Amino acid sequence: MPGVAIAPAPRGRLFRKYVALFVAVVCTALAAKELLDGWFSFQEQKALLGRIQHEQARAAAMRIGQFVKELQGQLGWATQFPWSANSADDWQFDAERLLRQVEAITELRQLDAEGREQFCNFRFSVCPRGGTPTDFSHDPAFTEAVAHGVYFGPVRFERGSEPFMVVAMRGRRREHGVIVAQVNLKFIWDVVTDIKVGIAGRAFVVDPHGRLIAHPEIDLVLRNTDMSHLAQVRAALEEPSQKPPGALADEDAEPQVALDIKGQRVLSVHAPVVPLGWRVFVELPLNEAYASIYQSLLRSGVIFFAALALAAFAGLYLARRMVIPIRALRDGAARIGQGDLTQRIAIETGDELQELGNQFNSMAGLLQESRATLESKVRERTHQLELANSAKSRFLAVASHDLRQPLHALGLFVAQLRTTTTAAERHRIVERIDTAVAMMNELFKALLDISRLDAGALTANITEFPVAKLLEPVQTTFAGTAKEAGLDFRVIPNDAWVRSDFVLLEQILFNLVSNAVRYVARGGVLVGCRKRGQDLRIEIWDTGPGIPDDQRQKIFGEFYRLDDHQRDRRGLGLGLAIVDRLCRLLHHSIELSSEVGRGSRFSIIVPMAVATAKAAAPPAPAVGALNLAAKKLIVVIDDDALALDAMDGLLRSWGCRVVAARSAAEALIDLADTECPPDLVISDFLLSDQCTGIQAIEQVRAAFGVPIPAFLVSGDISPVLQQEAQHSGYHLLHKPVDPMQLRTMLNRLLKKKGLVGASR
Ligand code: ADP
Repeated sequence: MPGVAIAPAPRGRLFRKYVALFVAVVCTALAAKELLDGWFSFQEQKALLGRIQHEQARAAAMRIGQFVKELQGQLGWATQFPWSANSADDWQFDAERLLRQVEAITELRQLDAEGREQFCNFRFSVCPRGGTPTDFSHDPAFTEAVAHGVYFGPVRFERGSEPFMVVAMRGRRREHGVIVAQVNLKFIWDVVTDIKVGIAGRAFVVDPHGRLIAHPEIDLVLRNTDMSHLAQVRAALEEPSQKPPGALADEDAEPQVALDIKGQRVLSVHAPVVPLGWRVFVELPLNEAYASIYQSLLRSGVIFFAALALAAFAGLYLARRMVIPIRALRDGAARIGQGDLTQRIAIETGDELQELGNQFNSMAGLLQESRATLESKVRERTHQLELANSAKSRFLAVASHDLRQPLHALGLFVAQLRTTTTAAERHRIVERIDTAVAMMNELFKALLDISRLDAGALTANITEFPVAKLLEPVQTTFAGTAKEAGLDFRVIPNDAWVRSDFVLLEQILFNLVSNAVRYVARGGVLVGCRKRGQDLRIEIWDTGPGIPDDQRQKIFGEFYRLDDHQRDRRGLGLGLAIVDRLCRLLHHSIELSSEVGRGSRFSIIVPMAVATAKAAAPPAPAVGALNLAAKKLIVVIDDDALALDAMDGLLRSWGCRVVAARSAAEALIDLADTECPPDLVISDFLLSDQCTGIQAIEQVRAAFGVPIPAFLVSGDISPVLQQEAQHSGYHLLHKPVDPMQLRTMLNRLLKKKGLVGASR
């Protein structure tokens, strides 16, 4: 079965939509993730770096503070005693010990309460002795120490590069004087240079005025650089070095982004050296601080673009997988819609789309099947119509042939009649003419029966009646004929009741019995009944020639006659066709068993009825033999001159008074002088002046104001006319009307009129 060709690379709107949607969804999710990741890791990195730098700054500040505190402690110890000239050796001993213990102290001076130098001890040089003691009473080291207990002098650089500071402390009492120490601050320098902040990070220390005390780049310190112009330094110096309780701890403070001395952006944190009011700054160039963040952002960017490419590929792949079956469905449905029902949609996705495709396929299959069925039905129907058409043609050919025979004979007899002079000869010819007319009548009657049955114009009037009522007329009708032919004819009486249409079943029986009587040459005919369950089989046995097997169906067709029967016994070939149609109308089965050379048996299976006391109405007595029409005034209306003349002549031959007219108006003119209303009106159904026979009869009735008996005749056998006549309440006889049939109708209507008149 052909499948739908799947396009290798679909490029439709749906495809583009799916790809774009997929890529957009994946990229949005990825971008959001990467941005959030980047932002949070930036913040975390910044906080982490801040914490590390703070820790370093705080540790450095603590070490410097510790150094200063120790120094203070050692000096404080030395100021415990009031030194005098005679204790010089003791002081020198203590000073030596102090210089040994605190390596940073390079010079020591002991001042008395007036600020005069009492003793001195220098680590690298000899302290001058004797002479006038040096006066330090105006030196800030003395004055500040006396005033505040301790003094830290400014940082100086000696011997080219080393930083020094003067620290002075006063004793507990005034007489204890002041001890002044020159301290080498190289230790602080070491602390600062020891701090490693990343690769290019720096730590430095500034004094309370913002002047640089320690920096890994010694040049800056030697140049006595003022750092207070830097925003971070200015901000730090403005802060109180001792924070109030509850204030933000330094380690919690955000690292500050600022410019360093070289104008480079740095991440800066600081910590105070509490006793000195100095600040330790730890700074890391921003590009180094954020290098890992930049790297992670770069990584994220690479991942993002890789994911973008992957999403695009995945989108293409998925959209292709999704769109291909949809396109296959669309194309397949379109082809099925265009009538290509052999089309099948091949989708193997194993999901709802495949189910949909399968449903389309089964729908197409059903359509294909029903179309094939329809086509075969149409073919069969056409064949039937062709058969019916050829049967109709055959029917017409045979009918016209069978009609032509008596017509031909009729013409010859009429010609003979013109020249014949003797009464005996005329009598003989008239009798032959009668026979020819009877044959034609019989044929017309049979044709009429067939056409009424085919047109559905006959309806069954089902009643229950004893079968004996059916068998009696069979006996009376055929017994004489059979006897004349030398046959043994027997009808076996039966008391069963049947349910059927009396008249139609009688016609079936008459046709079958007449056939049997006609075709039996020797022997006899037997009519009998057998009860079979709920049915009664009415059987007609004969000892005729029998019917070969292959002919048993065919003899029920129209004009079908067996060839080997004697030609003079042949009938019209319509009897069994009528029997077959009547049986179908009454729903009675007909069976035939026959043996060639021995005879045949036709059986009609009729449903039985329960016998009731009330016998079915006996068939109407034959009234054809009476002549109640003599001397009666009868109006005949027919627009066909020949038919009108024939009817006029026949009625007059029966002693009737006739008014023959072509229309109701013409009839009324002829009746103008008549005082009594006519006894009966016979009208053709279809009159030429667009008037129906029903209207013509009504006009005559209206003119006399009495319901004159009337009936219609017509050559048109269509069921419509039949129904119209029935509705109007008039009987309708079909042309050619048999004279006996005509007389029976006349007698029946006139008798009824007489009864009505008598009862009045
Ligand atoms: P027909 O008017 O010729 O009898 P039917 O339709 O009644 O037409 O019968 C058709 C043919 O069937 C007859 O021509 C005759 O050959 C055959 N046929 C009918 N009844 C009998 C029978 N009882 N025995 C033998 N042949 C019969």
